[in-house]
Amino acid sequence: MSSHHTSGQSQSSKGIDSIDLKELLESAPDAMIIVDRKGFIQLVNEQVRNIFGYSKEELLGQKIEILIPKRFHNNHSTHRTNFFEKPNMRPMGAGLELWGVRKSGEEFPVEISLSPIGSAENRFVTAAIRDISDRKMAEQALQESMRELNQKNKELAQFAYAASHDLQEPLRTVKSFVELLEKQYDGQFDERAAKYFRFISDASTRMSDLIKDLLDYSRIGRDRVFRPLDCNRIMVEVKEDLGALINETQTQLEVNPLPELTGSETELRLLFQNLISNAIKFRKKDTVPVIKITSESAKDSWKLSFRDNGIGIAEEHWERIFDIFQRLHSKNAYEGTGIGLAHCKKITDLHGGRIWVDSKLNEGSTFYVTLKKHL
Ligand code: ADP
Repeated sequence: MSSHHTSGQSQSSKGIDSIDLKELLESAPDAMIIVDRKGFIQLVNEQVRNIFGYSKEELLGQKIEILIPKRFHNNHSTHRTNFFEKPNMRPMGAGLELWGVRKSGEEFPVEISLSPIGSAENRFVTAAIRDISDRKMAEQALQESMRELNQKNKELAQFAYAASHDLQEPLRTVKSFVELLEKQYDGQFDERAAKYFRFISDASTRMSDLIKDLLDYSRIGRDRVFRPLDCNRIMVEVKEDLGALINETQTQLEVNPLPELTGSETELRLLFQNLISNAIKFRKKDTVPVIKITSESAKDSWKLSFRDNGIGIAEEHWERIFDIFQRLHSKNAYEGTGIGLAHCKKITDLHGGRIWVDSKLNEGSTFYVTLKKHL
C-alpha cells in the first residue's frame, strides 16, 4: 500500500503493507475494509465503492462510523473497543440486524463478518461487508405474499367449511322426506314414480358424499401438527390399512426405504393411502397391479415416486386431475368423487412441496411428490 493512502494513520498500517493482502482483498466478492484499533479505515477494496458509493481515497483515514448510520455510532465504538480487547471471529449475519449507510445517505441492510489480523500490539480488524438489500426485499415481498395467500386460504377454508357444513342440513331433510314418502306411500306409486324416487335418493346420497369430501378437504391442515416422522413406519401402517384390498387384487407393492422428515402424520398417511389406492383402483383389466415406491434426496426436500402399471392418464389431463372433483371416468366405471388427488395436492402444498404426474396411456402412471425436509 502506498503511503499517500494512509493519511494520518501510516504508523499503524505498517504490518499490512503487503501486496498479497491487497490482492486478497480485491479478489473477495464482498466489500472488505481493514480498520485499526481506533476505528480508522486503513485499507479498502474496490467493492466498497460499489456498495457505499465512496472512492478509496474518500475513505482511507476516515473513521469507520462514516459507513454506519448515526444512531449506532455510540454503540459501535463500544463494540469496537470490546472487539479489540477480545478479538474473535464473527461470521456473516450471526443473528444480528446490521445497517450500513451509503454516501448518498441511504441506509441499507448488511451482513458483516469480522476477523482480527496482525499481532496483539499491531492489531487490525478485517470486515467483510455484504449488501443484502435485494435479499431482504425479496424476503419481505415473499413474506407479504405468503401473508396474503394465508389470509385468502383461511377465508376460502372458512367458506368451504361453512358452506359444506350448512349444506348438509337441508340435504338430510330432503333425504329423510324422500324415505318417508317411499315408506308411507308404498305400493301407491307406479314403477316410473318408484324409479324417480330412486334417482332422487341416489343423487342425494351422492351429494352428501360430495359435501362430506368437501368438508374433509376444508379440514386438511386445520389443526396441523408438524413433527419428525418416519415415512417407513407410516407406509407400513398404510399397507396394513389397505391389506384387504391389496390381497384381493394380489397387488405387488414394492417400497424402497423412505425418508424421515418433518410433517403431519395424519396428512402424510392420507397422501400415501390415496396414491396407493388409486394405483390399485385404476389398474388394467386382467393385470396384477404392480406398484413401486421410491424416494430420493433433493436439495432441501425429498422426492417420492409412486409408479404403477395401471390404465395411465392422457397428457391433457395431467393437471386437472389434481383439482377438486375432477375425474376422468363415470362413477359406474370407477368409484369415487374425484377428491383424492385434490387432498394430495393440498397436503403436499402444506408440506412445502409439489405433486405431479407422468404417465403413458395403457402403460401406467408415476406420481411424484416432493416434501420439504424441514418445516
Ligand atoms: P377419484 O379416485 O375419486 O376418482 P382422484 O382425485 O383420486 O379421484 O383422481 C382423479 C382422477 O385421476 C381419477 O378419476 C382418475 O381418472 C385419475 N387417476 C388418479 N390416479 C390414477 C392412477 N394411478 N392411474 C390412472 N388414473 C388415475
